[in-house]
Amino acid sequence: HSPVHVVGGGLAGSEASWQLAQAGVPVILHEMRGVRGTDAHKGDGLAELVCSNSFRSDDATANAVGVIHAEMRLAGSLIMACADKHQVPAGGALAVDRDGFSDAVTKAIEEHPLITVVREEVAGLPPADWGLTIFATGPLTSASLASAIQAETGKDSLAFFDAIAPIVHRDSIDMDICWYQSRYDKVGPGGNGKDYINCPLDKEQYDAFVDALIAGDTVGFKEWEGTPYFDGCLPIEVMAERGRETLRHGPMKPMGLTNAHNPTVKAYAVVQLRQDNALGTLYNMVGFQTKLKYGAQAEIFRMIPGLQNAEFARLGGLHRNTYIHSPTLLDYTLRLKSRPTLRFAGQITGCEGYVESAAIGLLAGRFAAAERTGHEISTPPATTALGSLLNHITGGHLVSEDEPGKRSFQPMNINFGLFPELEPGSIVKPEGVKRFRGKDKTIMKRQLMARRALQDCAHWLGVNLPASDRARVEV
Ligand code: FAD
Repeated sequence: HSPVHVVGGGLAGSEASWQLAQAGVPVILHEMRGVRGTDAHKGDGLAELVCSNSFRSDDATANAVGVIHAEMRLAGSLIMACADKHQVPAGGALAVDRDGFSDAVTKAIEEHPLITVVREEVAGLPPADWGLTIFATGPLTSASLASAIQAETGKDSLAFFDAIAPIVHRDSIDMDICWYQSRYDKVGPGGNGKDYINCPLDKEQYDAFVDALIAGDTVGFKEWEGTPYFDGCLPIEVMAERGRETLRHGPMKPMGLTNAHNPTVKAYAVVQLRQDNALGTLYNMVGFQTKLKYGAQAEIFRMIPGLQNAEFARLGGLHRNTYIHSPTLLDYTLRLKSRPTLRFAGQITGCEGYVESAAIGLLAGRFAAAERTGHEISTPPATTALGSLLNHITGGHLVSEDEPGKRSFQPMNINFGLFPELEPGSIVKPEGVKRFRGKDKTIMKRQLMARRALQDCAHWLGVNLPASDRARVEV
């Protein structure tokens, strides 16, 4: 076979290279560190962890990131094997000795007979004779390559910052307080005039909320990030500081909305949440991008009536992050529609986190290997964590080709909100249990989703669930 080129030897690029080589496909891996650094990496090792040393929860029975760990292990992931080998104690989390981990990945890649590592910056799109190529250049993709990608995809399709509004699990929103309505009942494409969930605040609640926003602890920008405030994208707490009424005239304006539970009383301010995924299980808080610390966010946003028990699929943020608008640009196997020899993988596709980046690298590697060896590409079932993440990134078959801009796309960690719902009637009160509360149902739902994911993943890969994993997915 002629080689597949992989650009970027981070979490995604290392995993993609490994998957290709294990499938018998030669790889040329281009990594610029060693010749040119990034603002966050410190050394030259492959798969360097730029910040925390944690791969988050390793619980495959009821935690979505734990499930994706287990699925990646089933798929022969190099990143997971090296993480397991260099684990340090961290309770239920999988944390690693970062140097031991990166050294192990570097050694495995450099010693693989089918992988050649070239230390160079790839400054533009690949020449035609490269053939199949995977770009896994991460959130800190070098400037010249980023401009080349932008020239190919269009200016609005490559972001340099993520301005992330918090995302809430719909089933944790109190619909006895909130109601569905679009402003002025406007019916947009695919909508029915009830596209938003609205949370009403009276004056007292609004004032207390604004005070809390102003007093909340924030995270500063790193020097190299600059201060990326641009039109329409101010952090909510900066807006609050600009004047007591700013939010009421901005993202919290109450106009055109009538409280279905209390139609005669006009809300003083309204927080709107917009559907965030095609499944309708997640909603984002419109205009609530923020630099507040995570702890402060959860506390302050639960002051909003209707969100008192909100479970956040992710909290808000504003970071330096290069990523493409994958739902419009990529097909379901991560190929750039306008140049199908080119795949993207890792954080640049709009997933978020070490594990997720490696997971998308794993899929891109397997897909490219199948293509190179003339096999049909087999995509993971939508019920698996890998499939759910892939679906989130590429939009699956659910994005309307006619309205590419319609779907909001924000970088996202894996979470159960991205998984398809269970069959109706799956959640039943266990025998002998007297009280079966909402919280118990949520736990059972997660356990059932986790078990379904692992079983379907094992079936997809044609492997047996190892005894320990089977034990771990017992409900
Ligand atoms: P990377 O691991 O960054 O790999 C990309 C590689 O491509 C790099 O080695 C880079 O040198 C190389 N490269 C770039 N451009 C070129 C080019 N033109 N030619 C050749 N090589 C190139 N996630 C977490 O889960 N936990 C955290 O604590 C965390 N902290 C983060 C902190 C910062 C400052 C940033 C920016 C991100 C953080 N992330 C974190 C998010 C993300 O998980 C990591 O960035 C992760 O490393 C992404 O994996 P990747 O493989 O997509 O990119």
